[in-house]
Amino acid sequence: MKIGILGGGQLGRMLIQEALKYDDEFYTLDPASDAPCHNISYFTQGNFNDYETVLNFGKDKDVVTIEIEHVNADALAELENQGIKVVPNSKIIKTIQQKILQKEFYKAHDIPSPEFEVMDGSSDEIKMPLPFVQKMNTGGYDGKGVQVIRTAEDMKNMWTQDSVIEKLVDIDKELSVIVARNENGETKTFPVTEMVADPKLNLLDFNICPVFLSEEIEEQINSITEKFLNAINSPGLFAIELFLDKEGKVWVNETAPRLHNSGHQSQEGNANSQFEQMYRVVKNLPLADTDAIIYSGMLNLVGAEGFSGKVIYEGMEDVLRMPETYVHLYGKTETKPGRKMGHINVLADSREELMEKLVMVKGMVRVIAE
Ligand code: ADP
Repeated sequence: MKIGILGGGQLGRMLIQEALKYDDEFYTLDPASDAPCHNISYFTQGNFNDYETVLNFGKDKDVVTIEIEHVNADALAELENQGIKVVPNSKIIKTIQQKILQKEFYKAHDIPSPEFEVMDGSSDEIKMPLPFVQKMNTGGYDGKGVQVIRTAEDMKNMWTQDSVIEKLVDIDKELSVIVARNENGETKTFPVTEMVADPKLNLLDFNICPVFLSEEIEEQINSITEKFLNAINSPGLFAIELFLDKEGKVWVNETAPRLHNSGHQSQEGNANSQFEQMYRVVKNLPLADTDAIIYSGMLNLVGAEGFSGKVIYEGMEDVLRMPETYVHLYGKTETKPGRKMGHINVLADSREELMEKLVMVKGMVRVIAE
């Protein structure tokens, strides 16, 4: 089967890596000539936001999927009209692309998400009491396009673009749950993972699985995933990012309609990885067993501050000597501060041991430049 992927980044790369054990051809589209998929797939250099480019790329494929959601969804809708399978469908991609539509989707399907209002004029119209969070309707990514407004003084710095104004949640834990649905309507959910964010870069720091939650909290999450899977009307793999607040209530922050950083430890920690599952979704195959087989955790290898240029992974040989430690690099030759260059998965027999190992590995390795 000819499988086309919009985006040629690390998520696509790891999907292809996993799926090469089966018999398909992978095609990728990315604006960067040296994108992580450029030398492991049939690669087209081009803009996945451009209508004609996406249409041309998709028209001779059996199925088109995404590894980034900022793509031209109108072109995907046209491909659907032409009978090409698009996973997930263009409608759910459009909904998720726009924070306002995404929030309205949760509301319409009774999925708990922090209270919000739409700002499409000036900030004078906002009724939400301070403090609150402003989220740009479009264009946000990796923590950009999100800001906390605490005081009247902060309000002077508000963005003027269309935005969602959202209640500030008193967060106890940030959790993520990856769900999948195939065209036959079969669904599977990965065990919940916990994310520990780096406050400076807003990129994930550690990601841990499994997480032990009370039965009551588990039930809230099950109800969210069930409602979500019933509401989407599309095959796909989705990462639902959750907040657990200090009162024990679970809220949906946002959903990514694709493979996600919070699922990387599934490569070695679960019976099957999110990449295997994504492949099965794309091909409408029976979905894979998602059980956690051991404690697993992931740390991102992110370009260190002050280093730009040809990448060096300082300390990598020490990491490679560690048992139950797995290095995944993304094929990026140039590092810059904050750039996601790879990740390391670690396995352990308990949560305590896992945290110790993660902290140790993090201290061993640094992403610098020549
Ligand atoms: P992005 O899509 O850029 O990752 P998010 O919507 O996930 O943006 O927000 C980034 C971070 O901002 C979250 O991980 C969380 O820590 C914080 N945040 C977002 N929304 C809220 C909220 N309503 N209340 C409290 N913190 C929030």
